[in-house]
Amino acid sequence: MALIVQKYGGSSVGSIERIRNVARRVAYHARQGNRLVVVLSAMSGETNRLLGLARELSSHPDPRELDVVASTGEQVTIGLLSIALQEMGLKAKSFTGGQVWIHTDDAYTKARILGIDCSNIDRELSKGVIVVVAGFQGMDKNGNITTLGRGGSDTSAVALAAALKADECQIYTDVDGVYTTDPRIVSEARRLDTVTFEEMLEMASLGSKVLQIRSVEFAGKYKVKLRVLSSLDDPESNAPGTLITYEENQVMEDPIISGIAYARDEAKVSIMGVEDRPGIAHALLGPVADANIDVDMIVQNIGESGHTDFSFTVNNTELDKALAVLNREHDAGKFKARAILGDKNICKVSLVGIGMRTHAGIASKMFRTLAAEGINILMISTSEIKISVVIEEKYLELAVRILHKAFDLDKAA
Ligand code: ADP
Ligand code: ASP
Ligand code: MG
Repeated sequence: MALIVQKYGGSSVGSIERIRNVARRVAYHARQGNRLVVVLSAMSGETNRLLGLARELSSHPDPRELDVVASTGEQVTIGLLSIALQEMGLKAKSFTGGQVWIHTDDAYTKARILGIDCSNIDRELSKGVIVVVAGFQGMDKNGNITTLGRGGSDTSAVALAAALKADECQIYTDVDGVYTTDPRIVSEARRLDTVTFEEMLEMASLGSKVLQIRSVEFAGKYKVKLRVLSSLDDPESNAPGTLITYEENQVMEDPIISGIAYARDEAKVSIMGVEDRPGIAHALLGPVADANIDVDMIVQNIGESGHTDFSFTVNNTELDKALAVLNREHDAGKFKARAILGDKNICKVSLVGIGMRTHAGIASKMFRTLAAEGINILMISTSEIKISVVIEEKYLELAVRILHKAFDLDKAA
């Protein structure tokens, strides 16, 4: 008897009809003799709506209270699915994160899971009950409700699968697997039967929101058998979706590039005409780090007559905070600069593939392809298995499309 953790995202539970549909799929798997733990997101759009309500009251809502509000979306769907399953004659019971207990730290709005007490779930499973758990939420040691960051239900599911030593963790969403790039942008994108853990980790960290990055990290740490599938097809079709694999040394047969990821939520900070002296990078980035702002790419231009331009990227929700920190340091005389500028109209496009390690010339082909369309590259960063460029946001879709074609991702491997 297999133990399966299934997670259904927001669009998969976005209406009563969709919830009934999920119930039918869960019932199908239960009737095949599996023990099931089902993790749900809030109905699509609901988390945004809830956060919007809080922001109508305050531009800086207390993060503890934000989590109290945001976590309610999942409480609704778990209750509704349990009712739907009971209507179909199955035993089902819902649990909030705190009721399980999914134990987190107290970093409200981006809490980390510290441990999961499986005793409530084990007890229900042994009685033949389908356990329905609210994704995205947990509880800290003082009993405060926490949430795990946007897209966090994926992480709830994988963490539960690891803690329960489940046979498989299935992430059901509105596409039938992981594609070479976002199928909403490139209609020729191809579904991958398998994707290596390392590639999935890069794709997720570079913006592919099909899996939240922390869920992929968890899966790698505990070697969870993780699969991405469609919640919209017929359950009996047994479509395979995309399996995340952990084997190494697959490079020989693998294509050079496996996928293209993009992130719209980047913003660029430029400090123009700053003094070019030892310690300047620390003078600029130290206070930004102290303010708990994550910096992604960094570029320092070659200095001229003792001055240089220094740029870095942050998440666009943190741009104003980063600018405020830099202006404060500047006004306090910690560094001198001609101007401090922010730009939200940029995006990041990345090529990912473990085959890249053994192939030269990928970067030059990428740059040539973009140049041929007149797309200017503002920043570049590379690692063993990825190349990222920052470009103007208006070119995002064009860039993804032409790169997808240039690297033959539309053709079967
Ligand atoms: P859910 O609500 O089920 O969690 P998400 O919207 O978070 O769903 O993630 C699924 C979406 O991820 C897809 O609808 C698709 O537009 C997007 N996506 C981005 N990159 C990829 C990719 N490489 N493969 C598949 N989907 C992708
Ligand atoms: N409902 C949450 C969100 O919208 C969590 C999730 O969907 O995974 O971010
Ligand atoms: Mg998601």
